[in-house]
Amino acid sequence: MRENEKAARLKRMMDMKESGLTLEAIGKEFGITKQAVSSQLKKGIDIHKSRRCLYCGKPFVPRSTIREWCSPDHKRKWQTRERRQLRFFSNIDFNPDENGCLNWIGYKHPNGYGGMNGGYAHRLAWRIFRGEIPQGLCVLHHCDNPSCVNPAHLWLGTKGDNARDRNGKGRGKAYGGVGENCPQAKLCKKDVIRIKQMLKSGISRSSIGKSYGVGYGTIYNISVGKSWSHIKEGDGSGKE
Ligand SMILES: [Zn+2]
Ligand SMILES: [Zn+2]
Repeated sequence: MRENEKAARLKRMMDMKESGLTLEAIGKEFGITKQAVSSQLKKGIDIHKSRRCLYCGKPFVPRSTIREWCSPDHKRKWQTRERRQLRFFSNIDFNPDENGCLNWIGYKHPNGYGGMNGGYAHRLAWRIFRGEIPQGLCVLHHCDNPSCVNPAHLWLGTKGDNARDRNGKGRGKAYGGVGENCPQAKLCKKDVIRIKQMLKSGISRSSIGKSYGVGYGTIYNISVGKSWSHIKEGDGSGKE
């Protein structure tokens, strides 16, 4: 307890120094001289420098009970994150398939998307490899493979595209709130044939995307043969 108090005091002093207060002002606050503040801060900086929190990376004054994290909260968060990442990586087949997809071999939602901790694996992949998902954006697949968690195959699209697609086609209603998990817009073979015809006739990718409620990337991939390359625009004659 005594040690914790000392550490907390030191931490407060360092915070005050960092926020631009003079040694005199800090001394006044603690009822000590500015020389005393200076020597305590010097001592503090030595400890301060030696430790960085494993979770937030910020220097901190170690306490007797927690030595690797700046606070019990960051200890818990770090452990949760570690466990989650371990589980995430153990659920991936790291042998890429013929499209370069890294497939999720863990639990799959009924719509084919990998799932973990009640969320979507591809969204988790984005957060682990790329960072936070900006509010309002969805993680979509270039490769049209819902179980793929290869970060290179993922891109951020807007919620609007997904919502339009869901409302227009009645897909994905069973999964999560609107826009929350953003099941990827899925086109059927018929759609793709029609899209290829539209592309051939010179209609812009973005307006085709809009009319099908999918992102530009999806149409782009079809147009350059990155996805649905096995479908020809003349395939529409009956057989599905
Ligand atoms: Zn921390
Ligand atoms: Zn993929």
